Amino acid sequence: MNRKINVSIYNECQHEHEVDAVRAIYPQGIHGAIRGFLEKDGAIGTIRCATLQDHRETLSQAVLDDTDVLVWWGHIKHHEVDDKVAAAVAGRVIDGMGLVVLHSGHGSKPFQLLLGTDTYNLRWREAGEKVRLWTIAKNHPISQGLGETFVVPHDETYGEPFGIPQPDELIFLSWFQGGEVFRSGCTWRRGEGKIFYLQNGHETFPIYHQREIQQIITNAVKWACPVARSCPRDRGGPNAAALEAYTLEDGGGFTPVTRG
Ligand code: ZN
Repeated sequence: MNRKINVSIYNECQHEHEVDAVRAIYPQGIHGAIRGFLEKDGAIGTIRCATLQDHRETLSQAVLDDTDVLVWWGHIKHHEVDDKVAAAVAGRVIDGMGLVVLHSGHGSKPFQLLLGTDTYNLRWREAGEKVRLWTIAKNHPISQGLGETFVVPHDETYGEPFGIPQPDELIFLSWFQGGEVFRSGCTWRRGEGKIFYLQNGHETFPIYHQREIQQIITNAVKWACPVARSCPRDRGGPNAAALEAYTLEDGGGFTPVTRG
């Protein structure tokens, strides 16, 4: 692809304001950390950041229209995201924009709009347990540069059953110290758009500073990028005239229908 990938990063950015320990790990916010490693990649072009506080402006339709891939981190304030912005995000995904949803973003409005899920759809525990990820799809663009398995030293535990529609592809499967397993890296397609969900990233651990996690998110941005930035779908199911006229003989006995 000739053009560079335009990325927008939405981060709720509440914990960074309210909790010293989180601010110590992410002094520039979780979005700042994600921006920090994405901007080192030569394939990435413009990176824009949005937070809950400013998302009505920073995720405007004009910004979304100029975004190839949107990365989303949210947790306790999903309900405060403007319904119109959430609908615009979902609409852009249908039209081809990529969406990379992180950690508790499974409860976000765009994720739920696109996948038909609800917030309370998994087991969870904040115990700082070790998690081991296994690469299930070794030949997938999102798993390139990763080994067969790696460990995140501490994360929030998420466990099955995870109330998602069956993923199109399962890229990573995780095992947690407390015994749970979880489908931690999943893809779906909705309309023209690609969606990737990654479980890792509880705000009290430096997970977005870990090389493997950075590699996964960078790979996912590249995978989710559409060939054409703008590819609006025909909405409304137009009544379409035939491209070529045909005769009774061509039609094998069917009577041609004239649309008017
Ligand atoms: Zn969490």
